[in-house]
Amino acid sequence: FKNLSKYLEAFEYMFGPYAWERIGFVSVPFMGGAMEHATNIAISESAINGTLDFEMLFVHEFAHSWFGNLVTCRSAEDMWLNEGWASYCEALFKEYYYGKQPFKDYVRENHKKVLSRTHIRDKGYRSVYGIPREFTYGSTVYDKGFDVAHTLRGYVGDKHFFTSLKKYFKYFAFQDVSTKLFKDFLMMETALDLTDFFNTWVYSPGFPHFSIDSFLVTKTEKGFETEVFVRQKLKGTDDYAYSNKVEV
Ligand SMILES: [Zn+2]
Repeated sequence: FKNLSKYLEAFEYMFGPYAWERIGFVSVPFMGGAMEHATNIAISESAINGTLDFEMLFVHEFAHSWFGNLVTCRSAEDMWLNEGWASYCEALFKEYYYGKQPFKDYVRENHKKVLSRTHIRDKGYRSVYGIPREFTYGSTVYDKGFDVAHTLRGYVGDKHFFTSLKKYFKYFAFQDVSTKLFKDFLMMETALDLTDFFNTWVYSPGFPHFSIDSFLVTKTEKGFETEVFVRQKLKGTDDYAYSNKVEV
């Protein structure tokens, strides 16, 4: 529990005040995992061993104080709003406390896992929203959900991302939210049209992949103008992604 006060500091900074009068962890004799009861998070006793080996498990459960306990997903189909986001909070804490490089490594590691294993573990390419009940607690919801949260951050930019999340917790405190409501709220707050983003990343299975196909350089009066042609390849989906933002 060495860094517990840091978890509180980080998430209050990002999402606003912790909503309960106490923080509690309780050691329970199950084999692995944890459960995020508000003020009384149950942690497997084997994870409390005086090291930071299980720190990300602690961070994940504590992040449910916002994603899950303060604002709850409306249905099992919306579970990525709880679990995908609590999983991304592990990376956000890395960034806040350990720095940019450990954060990037963690995001990449997760992304690799999603691309190579999630469709095997969850028996097919799936969308994070509308997951069948047998995979409510599967890798699509946790790991691809993490990926989608990170992609959304890149799409709207840090300022919109964190400002909207803070308002989200203020506005929906102790309520439940559906994926559609989450999308509508973000669109209202950021004044961005996120329809295509949600269609591709939240409501569709698989992934778009972008690569540079070619350049066309033309000489103009002021210098040169370069047109960049980008190619989009698809994996696990038949629908192309629109309104993309790709950093070149
Ligand atoms: Zn969780």
